[in-house]
Amino acid sequence: MSPSTQTPRDASFQNLGEIFQHHQSFVLLSHVRPDGDAIGSQLALGYALIAAGKSVRMINEDGLPENLTFMAGSEKIETPPAAPLDVQVAIALDTATKPRLGENALKAASNAKIWINIDHHISNPKYGDFNLIDATSPATGQILYQLIIALGLPMPAESRDAIYVAVSTDTGSLQYPSTTAITYDLAADLIRRGLDVGSINSNIYDNHPYRRVELMRALLNTLERTPDGLLAHWEMRDQTRIDLALTPDDSEGLIDIIRAIRGVQVAVFFEELPDGKIRVSMRSKDRRYNVCEIAMEFGGGGHALAAGIRMTGPLKNAKPLVLEAIQRRITAAHA
Ligand code: AMP
Ligand code: MN
Ligand code: MN
Repeated sequence: MSPSTQTPRDASFQNLGEIFQHHQSFVLLSHVRPDGDAIGSQLALGYALIAAGKSVRMINEDGLPENLTFMAGSEKIETPPAAPLDVQVAIALDTATKPRLGENALKAASNAKIWINIDHHISNPKYGDFNLIDATSPATGQILYQLIIALGLPMPAESRDAIYVAVSTDTGSLQYPSTTAITYDLAADLIRRGLDVGSINSNIYDNHPYRRVELMRALLNTLERTPDGLLAHWEMRDQTRIDLALTPDDSEGLIDIIRAIRGVQVAVFFEELPDGKIRVSMRSKDRRYNVCEIAMEFGGGGHALAAGIRMTGPLKNAKPLVLEAIQRRITAAHA
C-alpha cells in the first residue's frame, strides 16, 4: 500500500479528474500475463494523459505480449525498470488484486504518493487510495472510455483503438452477457471517430501463429467431460510449451472452444507454468455456477462467468481439488 494515510474510498470521475489535473507524472500498471483489456487500458488512458500534457510511463511485469504488438503506440509498454520511478501517481488497471501487478512492477511504482485502482472485477478489494470499480462494466476499457468522455480528456487514435481492443477482447467480440447497449454505442462512437474496425478485428482475430493451432491439437488430446456433460476441462503440460516454443499469449481465449460445447456449463483450462505453479482458467455459462466464488476459495478471483487462479502445483494435486470444488457447486445448484 502507499505511504498515504487516506482510507481507501470510492472515487467519482470528478475526483479522478482533479487528481489528473493537479499532478504531472503517472505510472500506469496492469496485471501479469496481460490480456487485451490490460494493455488496452494502459494505452487508452496513457495516451489520453500524454495528449493532455502529462508525463506517463506504462509498465507491465511481463511486458507487451506478441499478439498485441500490432496496437498503435504499444512500444510504450515497458517491463519494470530496476530502480523505482520518480512518479507522483500510480494507476492500477484491470487488476483484481494488488499482488497481480507483479513484484517488480510494484517496486517500480513504490514512490508514488497516490494509488488509483480502476477495474471491473467484482472480487477487487479496493486496494487503492481512490477506487473506481464498476463490476457491471464488461471491460476496464469501457470504464476508461466513459471517464475520458466525462472529463473531456483528449482521445488520440492510440486511445481510440486501444479502447476497442480492450472491450472487444473482454466481451468475446461483444458477445458475452456483460455486453450492453452502452458497449455497442461505444463501438459505434469509436468507428465515427475513425476506428478501422475491419483491420483491427483482423489483427486481433485472424492473425494467430501456426503454433497456436498446434497447441489446440495438443489440448484436444487431453479433453475430458463429466458424464452429465456439464463440466469440460483440458490441460497443458509445461513440456508442450517447450515442444511447440509457445509464448504465454498463445493460449489466450482457447478456453472458449470448450465453453462453446452444447450442454457444458463450466469449462476449465489447467496450465502448468514454468515455475511449477498452476494457472487455472474457468468459464461459466450460468450465474448459478459462479466461478469467481470458486476461484476465491483458492486465492484467485475474477468475474461470475470468467475467473482464474494461480495455485501451488503439481498439476496432479491441484486439478482434483478444483474439479471437486466445481462439482460441489454443480451438485448444490441441482439440489
Ligand atoms: P483468464 O482465465 O486468465 O482469462 O482470467 C479470467 C478472469 O479472471 C480475468 O478477468 C482475470 O483478470 C481474472 N483472473 C485470472 N486469474 C486470476 C487470479 N489469479 N487472481 C484474480 N483474478 C484472476
Ligand atoms: Mn484482464
Ligand atoms: Mn478486464
